[in-house]
Amino acid sequence: MGQERAAATLRRAAAAGADLLAGGRGAGMTHAWLFTGPPGSGREEAARAFTAALFCPDQGCGHCDMCHQVAVGSHPDLEIVRPQGLSYGIKDTRRLILRAAGAPTLGHWRVVLFEDADRATEGASNALLKAIEEPPPRTVWLLCAPSPDDMMITIRSRCRLVTLVTPPTAAVAHVLATRENVPPAMAEFAARAAQGHIDRARRLALDEEARARREAVLSIPRSLTGVGECVMAAERLVKTAEDEAAAVTAVLNESEITELRQVYGEGSTGKGLNRGLIRGGAGALKDLEDRQKSRATRTKRDVIDASLLDLVAFYRDVLAVQFGAHVELASEDRRADLDDLARASTPEDTLRRIDAIMRCRRRLASNVSPQMAVESMTISLHRPRL
Ligand SMILES: [Zn+2]
Repeated sequence: MGQERAAATLRRAAAAGADLLAGGRGAGMTHAWLFTGPPGSGREEAARAFTAALFCPDQGCGHCDMCHQVAVGSHPDLEIVRPQGLSYGIKDTRRLILRAAGAPTLGHWRVVLFEDADRATEGASNALLKAIEEPPPRTVWLLCAPSPDDMMITIRSRCRLVTLVTPPTAAVAHVLATRENVPPAMAEFAARAAQGHIDRARRLALDEEARARREAVLSIPRSLTGVGECVMAAERLVKTAEDEAAAVTAVLNESEITELRQVYGEGSTGKGLNRGLIRGGAGALKDLEDRQKSRATRTKRDVIDASLLDLVAFYRDVLAVQFGAHVELASEDRRADLDDLARASTPEDTLRRIDAIMRCRRRLASNVSPQMAVESMTISLHRPRL
């Protein structure tokens, strides 16, 4: 498994980092790492484990204070960057680089763990490149992206590459059963349905609403018997995504606004957000609101995209049934629907439908209105009544 090889490389590097420090030098440590792998392959987890190995006196024992602080993200020398908008801009990047250049407070290294580094804009990437070309002696950059190609070649060539692969179903089920105490049958179902995506498998195993949403999505192919049904299915899918995104972002928004009000002070009366904020507060609030709006948009698109991936998996299963391929089916739990659709259509139909879903994903990524993109997809998925 790619994970084990990656872990061995990282352990060696962390040990080498400790040796270098014992010799009193910080040079020689690789200051920029690029963790790549499909979503759910555990890129961020690997980067965190590496950080723990750098901070922990025992190379990442998993039990000490340092390891714990890395795991919960509270270690003062670890900065985790999680772009909240569709892109990460140059202003944020410059601020980040300044912070990253500071001396470590507790240990020997300062680590910046940049999740979704592929969301850095071109300007941001150029700023980042300068920072990793001439790194402060104690700073280590850990960039995470789906594949090396998602990063500018000049950045890529200066990073040490750690490649993770999608883990097999059995491995994901094992993790769920042993670490999360999920019953074996549920672990197996969730791992299979999530196709190696660890986070998603965990959510499916532990969250009943996530399972209900998947059910709703997988009931779509069967329901698309007329144009009216197609339009309605699209509406439902977009509405569900909006609700979920709203639930996710509401919690974050509230705590951020509370924090901002603590920084800028607030009047004791009045409900209006602007009321009582001291000078500078209004501008900061406007900035925050813009960021929150952009995050809401991104979350909604991400939720729709996750549903589309469930649909792709479903039609890929239809194709496998049509070809009589003996492979593991992600939608085994919808076996009757798979068989019906496999009989009622040709492999060409199925491929055309998969294309329609992929086209919808691209259109969503390029800012087409979700309702329009999804509706034109469901119409392409339309099938005769069985
Ligand atoms: Zn430890």
